[in-house]
Amino acid sequence: MAVKLKKIGAAGRFGAGYGKIKERLVAVEEKQRIRQECPFCKGRAKRKAKGIWECNKCGKKFAGGTFYLKD
Ligand SMILES: [Zn+2]
Repeated sequence: MAVKLKKIGAAGRFGAGYGKIKERLVAVEEKQRIRQECPFCKGRAKRKAKGIWECNKCGKKFAGGTFYLKD
C-alpha cells in the first residue's frame, strides 16, 4: 500500500522538519520536471550549470533561469 504523501510531494524524502523550505523546493522541482524548450529551435534544452542551458538538438548554449527556463 502506497504511503499517502502530503502536499510536500517529492520533498517527503527529507522527512520531518524544514516545512516551509520543503514547500518551496517542491515548487522548483515541479518546474524542473517539465520540458525545457530551446528558444532557437524549440528542441529540448538541458541545464548544464547554474543558468547555463544547452540544446540537445541544435547544440546552442544560452543563458536562462537558474533552475528552469520559463515560469
Ligand atoms: Zn535548439
